[in-house]
Amino acid sequence: MNNETKILQDSHGRNHTYLRISLTERCNLRCTYCMPEAGIPLSPKSHLMTYEEVFDIAKIFVKHGVTKIRLTGGEPLVRKDFSVILEKLALLPVELSITSNAVIIDRFIDVLKTNDVKNINVSLDSLNRDKFTHITRRNQFDKVYNNILLLIKKGFHVKLNAVLMKGFNDDEIINFINFTKDLPISVRFIEFMPFDGNKWDMSKMVSYADIMKYVNDSFLENNVIKLQDAPNDTSKNYKIKDYKGSFAIISSVTNPFCDSCNRLRLTANGQLKNCLFSSTESDLLTTLRGGKPIEQVIKKAVFAKLKVRGGMDTLNKLQKPHLHSKNRSMITIGG
Ligand code: SAM
Ligand code: SF4
Repeated sequence: MNNETKILQDSHGRNHTYLRISLTERCNLRCTYCMPEAGIPLSPKSHLMTYEEVFDIAKIFVKHGVTKIRLTGGEPLVRKDFSVILEKLALLPVELSITSNAVIIDRFIDVLKTNDVKNINVSLDSLNRDKFTHITRRNQFDKVYNNILLLIKKGFHVKLNAVLMKGFNDDEIINFINFTKDLPISVRFIEFMPFDGNKWDMSKMVSYADIMKYVNDSFLENNVIKLQDAPNDTSKNYKIKDYKGSFAIISSVTNPFCDSCNRLRLTANGQLKNCLFSSTESDLLTTLRGGKPIEQVIKKAVFAKLKVRGGMDTLNKLQKPHLHSKNRSMITIGG
């Protein structure tokens, strides 16, 4: 590391070593909490990063200290050159991982293995076929379920992401945890977050405290074991005694983990977002295409990162729609 590494340090002393790259705004599902019903206006193809541009930008971040890259979207696997991008990024000295809805992941097992991807996060919001179809607006439950079992069989470390919504899937918390009884997976319950067009309101959210109450009531407190959380981990990890897998809670709304945040996000159209909740972006792609160095743009964007949740530092502010509606839908940020 040299002095230049400092471009990834913000004004609150946080060092950013983790880059999440969105490869596409497209998706083969239509999750209600992620995108508006009417869909989203897609960026023209010429405004999206090519695979060479993804690599060139990633290389600069790695040069300045990024050690971990996660590919996301939209659904990263619907991008036609996904395998080429993965192969290019695998040339860099970073840990590569992916977040996917797993609908077509069975076609990518070999390329993921060859390029040393070990950790795969899969979205699954219900273990009930009808509910899954309702939330994703697509009938793909069996594909996703079987692909999750396939990934485990092939030796990947699998984490399931379930966004909980009151009256919809909060009655499945215990079923999800029981899914970890014989399977070496982690189920992560995510508090429903506000993004443009997803009709968020606080009353739909199932909080960390709600979840732990269900769990402690159902399993009895002394069977619920707190696990050590990794540094910079966004989740609070637990397991049930004698279960093979574990569960976790990502409480971005009621208990944000901004103090130890080490993440930056690059959207598919080459905009750097210094925070998931930030409504401002910095245009790396135009700078790169103009033949100018992107380091100064990165430095300025990172330095300007606000201390908590893009400035929505209280629950009160988070509930003001005009503050979060300036942000994109999750599908175009890259979760
Ligand atoms: N298509 C992939 C998938 O579904 O895993 C990757 C992209 S998706 C945007 C990444 C993650 O964001 C998913 O785990 C999804 O559950 C989460 N997500 C999307 N909208 C959300 C919201 N409003 N609140 C909390 N999590 C959300
Ligand atoms: Fe697609 Fe993932 Fe968003 Fe669902 S959460 S619509 S699978 S990008």
